[in-house]
Amino acid sequence: MLTSSTADVYRSLVAQAASRVAGRFERTTQPASGASRAELQRLVDAVDLAGGGVGGPAAIREIDDLFLEHAVWFHHPAYAAHLNCPVVLPAVAAEIVLAAVNTSVDTYDQSTVGTLMERRLIERVSEWIGFSAGDGVFTSGGTQSNFHALLLAREAALARAGSSRAEAFARMAVFATASSHFSVGKSALLLGLSDEAVIEVADDGEGRMDPVSLDAAVVAAEASGRIPMAVVATAGTTDRGVIDPLTPIAAVCESRDVWMHVDAAYGGGLLVSPQSRDLLSGIERARSVTVDFHKSFFQPVSSSAILVREPRDLAAGAWHADYLNPVENEEPNQVDKSLQTTRRFDALKLWVTLRAIGADRIGELFDTVIDLASAVSDEVAADPELELVGRTQLSTVLFRVRPQGIDPAGQDALVAGVRRVLFESGRALVAKTVIDGRPCLKLTLLNPETTLDDVRGILTIVKDAAATLAGIAPEIDAELDAVFSDAEVSA
Ligand SMILES: *Cc1c(COP(=O)(O)O)cnc(C)c1O
Repeated sequence: MLTSSTADVYRSLVAQAASRVAGRFERTTQPASGASRAELQRLVDAVDLAGGGVGGPAAIREIDDLFLEHAVWFHHPAYAAHLNCPVVLPAVAAEIVLAAVNTSVDTYDQSTVGTLMERRLIERVSEWIGFSAGDGVFTSGGTQSNFHALLLAREAALARAGSSRAEAFARMAVFATASSHFSVGKSALLLGLSDEAVIEVADDGEGRMDPVSLDAAVVAAEASGRIPMAVVATAGTTDRGVIDPLTPIAAVCESRDVWMHVDAAYGGGLLVSPQSRDLLSGIERARSVTVDFHKSFFQPVSSSAILVREPRDLAAGAWHADYLNPVENEEPNQVDKSLQTTRRFDALKLWVTLRAIGADRIGELFDTVIDLASAVSDEVAADPELELVGRTQLSTVLFRVRPQGIDPAGQDALVAGVRRVLFESGRALVAKTVIDGRPCLKLTLLNPETTLDDVRGILTIVKDAAATLAGIAPEIDAELDAVFSDAEVSA
């Protein structure tokens, strides 16, 4: 508790904040207000941050009008843009607890039971993966988890390179497809590798790594004096939502003796899926795995972890400080395993979720959005005004709009315009990306309460926006009101 506050103030302020959010859940009718950036800037600038303070209740009221009024609501069924999930409420309750206690899971003496809980949870996640005695640590997100994994891979490769750091770093190679997450390339840069460190492996035409090409790429790299440092297989690519063939990739990694990292930031939810767990078979042969609980486990940001098959691999990231975790300290200090020092007790959210609803239920929620994406893909494929761009294995839908009489160049030009029109209205949010050199629209469906009808509503808005932009029909608004008048609140 803050020095000037009492338990009563805590109760009252948290209740006021919760009541403001609950009110928004009841009243919010579209995923965003649609206010312009200039308008939002004006509202933000109008707040006096230099003054003496208005008191807790007034400050909470103020953020209701400023932040909650204009927030982007991931629980709204017309939000289908990025990999953001609505959150399960037991995790939100846990967030209130961990923020108030303010535990830092770095050393044992700061966190005691929290450290033991995080470790227990890591054991559980390791079991889901199929590591017989894995280890790991919670991180701030998939970007950090991937960076951490590649750091460990780099250190393992260095230990075997038999040359100086600088010389070895210049020769190291990381293998990934063009669909791998951009944090792979960014990590290579941060890890001091060369500009050519990431070698792009050919895919099967639908975004999945081709294991035969991988093998050839590793052999060719080695033959030219490179050090194969890691293969990054993606279990759920961010755009196409496809899963690299993990078992054949594992076979290549084992036969060529290369570190296999699986980036399951998106597809990690399959670990607990009653229906589709087999899509991840082979993941247990990885040396390290990234899982983002704040994507397919419906956890509040931030909640992610890096898992390793061999606990000793984590030691490569350990540093010791006299004041904190001296070498002779025998307590279980999570800071020895983490790249962070002060670190949130994010594990509590997943812990409470597992206790409240169980792992199977989380998996079922993920299965629900996978099934939804499949049904939406079928509809898009059958709609003459739309063009489905590839099939997902998870919950994205890539597509283009083709109003009558528009050629492919015209369709490409419509993509950015449609996304912008929707964004400016705030009534439905979709993303855009580029696939095989052509722009397309993207739905990321991560809301288990979104129905097929809700998505039909989004597609109608998209088609109307495209028609309007193409100069065909200008009547978006009336339909929107009908479609989203009964928006619901998430689990
Ligand atoms: C989202 C994502 C990441 C990055 O995770 P953050 O939690 O956003 O840092 C990495 N890899 C993949 C495949 C992702 O989809």
